Amino acid sequence: MHEEFIRCMPKVELHVHLEGSIRPETLLNLAERNGVVLPVSSIEELEEWYQFSDFAHFIEIYFSICDCIRTADDFELIAAEFLTHQSAQNIKYSEVIFTPYTHHEHVAFDEQLAAINRARESAETNLGVRMGLVPDISRQMRPVEDSFRVADWAAQNMGNGIIALGLGGPEIGNPPEIFQGAFERAREAGLPSLPHAGETGGPKSIWGAVNTLSAARIGHGVRCLEDPGLVSFLREKQILLDVSPTGNVCLGVCPTLAEHPLPKLIDQGLFVTINSDDPPMFNTTLTDEYLRIAKTFGFDITQIKQFVINGIHASLLSQNTKYVLENEFKIQFEDLESEFGL
Ligand SMILES: [Zn+2]
Repeated sequence: MHEEFIRCMPKVELHVHLEGSIRPETLLNLAERNGVVLPVSSIEELEEWYQFSDFAHFIEIYFSICDCIRTADDFELIAAEFLTHQSAQNIKYSEVIFTPYTHHEHVAFDEQLAAINRARESAETNLGVRMGLVPDISRQMRPVEDSFRVADWAAQNMGNGIIALGLGGPEIGNPPEIFQGAFERAREAGLPSLPHAGETGGPKSIWGAVNTLSAARIGHGVRCLEDPGLVSFLREKQILLDVSPTGNVCLGVCPTLAEHPLPKLIDQGLFVTINSDDPPMFNTTLTDEYLRIAKTFGFDITQIKQFVINGIHASLLSQNTKYVLENEFKIQFEDLESEFGL
């Protein structure tokens, strides 16, 4: 396995959550400073807390984490730390999901965005890493009409850091169709759709995401394999799947990494990127994801590089930026290959 190459190679990440990326130490500090009582008070207890029995349990803990964010400064801090960590992994560009509605009683949408943008601009200048923001609508959002508030606000802030509208939260019992109106409104304003689908939900959920929400990519989508017609559709339309192998195992989508459907997705000719989703919650990083899949499935360096290049192609960057980034990455790949004698 080409461990050093994977650690050093330039990367992009298209599916990672800001709130789900909060460093454990920072989460405990935020809870303390904001007077939020968590059921854990040490890093060891936190690691134990992050053992999920199912998706509902995961969401419950996710909302407890979100509750610790109470001020604009909190947003700036977690975004700055996130970007520092991305930079340390040589992740040059990230598409980052966050859930503004969850926080709006403490911090207004505009203040959340302004704080995250301060961190974004600073990281771009000082670390040379970029990110695009994907505010998402939680499927649990009620009344559903409030989804229009998120969609309209996201559309108004295109060009101010926001690049797409996401859909997250529990798939079961909350089909994408419920939010068709909000996504239509956003798309009319030019904002692409990036829904989660096909992780805990089956093919029907993915069909809903592509047919009703016109998904530009699918977050997860691994359960498409249950429907050969859907696999053909995704392949022909080149709708890419943002796959998070360790997260899928942690949430019981598959029992072990060795049983993860990633090799089958590739065998079917589907386009896939590799992502960490909620890294500390799943005890992973993007680098770890690449190391684990290379070890578990024996992927060679050509396949690993292809995952990275898929990420550039499937990103929402401009065509020109993609072209420049791909060329930069290919030069760096070659330099690393000669450095490590590969
Ligand atoms: Zn996700």
